[in-house]
Amino acid sequence: MNTFRADLHVHSTFSDGGLTPSELIALAKERGVQALSITDHDTIAAYPEVFERAQEAHVMVKPGVEFSSAFEGVNVHILGYNFSLKGSSIPALCLRHRNRREQRNRAILEKLQAQNIQIEEKDLKGNLLGRPHIAQAMVKMGYVRTFKEAFTRYLAEGKRAYVQGETISAQETIDAIHGDGGKAFLAHPHLLPKRKLWLRRLCALPFDGIECYYAHFPLDSEEKWLELAQEKGWLVSGGSDFHGETKPSNRLGSSWVNEATFNQVFDT
Ligand code: AMP
Ligand code: ZN
Ligand code: FE
Ligand code: FE
Repeated sequence: MNTFRADLHVHSTFSDGGLTPSELIALAKERGVQALSITDHDTIAAYPEVFERAQEAHVMVKPGVEFSSAFEGVNVHILGYNFSLKGSSIPALCLRHRNRREQRNRAILEKLQAQNIQIEEKDLKGNLLGRPHIAQAMVKMGYVRTFKEAFTRYLAEGKRAYVQGETISAQETIDAIHGDGGKAFLAHPHLLPKRKLWLRRLCALPFDGIECYYAHFPLDSEEKWLELAQEKGWLVSGGSDFHGETKPSNRLGSSWVNEATFNQVFDT
């Protein structure tokens, strides 16, 4: 059976994913996934080069991004889809994130150094660096046994080397996505704090949609978010949040949207 499946949430080596855009496309093809959106954290560096490779492989790839943002002190991930790659709002926001990350990474490394963990900026490998790259360096250099341990002991919120750094608001993020003609989606809502009034205030922001299908959602959770989407008149998205080896349970293609939903998100 050749059911249409579009995985709208995957990360590449341009952020903290394990595979290059070309490798993601090859894996999508192998898994029978017809369409992808590569949604790197705070960068759109995979575009537009990726389109050529996608065309050769007969896999559809559509523009996407996943921004880190803050709403009332809580970290909220916002997915942007179907924006123009010729716009200037999203590139400007990506640049702000690059600067924010550089400063924050430095502060995290200082905290680690104060605890005799000697990692320097040159030890971090990647395009847009963050805590996952620091965690990888910690494993490689033998300071912790696993990626997970780097977070639970040092890098997770409230732990010994945690630094919040500058934040960029959810409203500004949605505005930047809209500024380049895109659609803003609330990402993995099941990971947000379970505070009803806070969620209601967050959902009063001008989102266009919500990620209702996600890697290992329990079914009843999907229904809850689908109901919210209907109530708000929002579009629906879904994807695996595939990262490769650092998140082995999120298999590419494990969550997806059908052709009708894909066409709504990307106006095709
Ligand atoms: P950053 O964008 O630099 O703040 O890093 C955020 C990323 O780190 C998330 O997207 C996750 O992939 C990863 N991460 C955050 N918290 C944890 C955790 N407790 N365990 C494992 N990975 C985590
Ligand atoms: Zn990630
Ligand atoms: Fe996320
Ligand atoms: Fe993600």
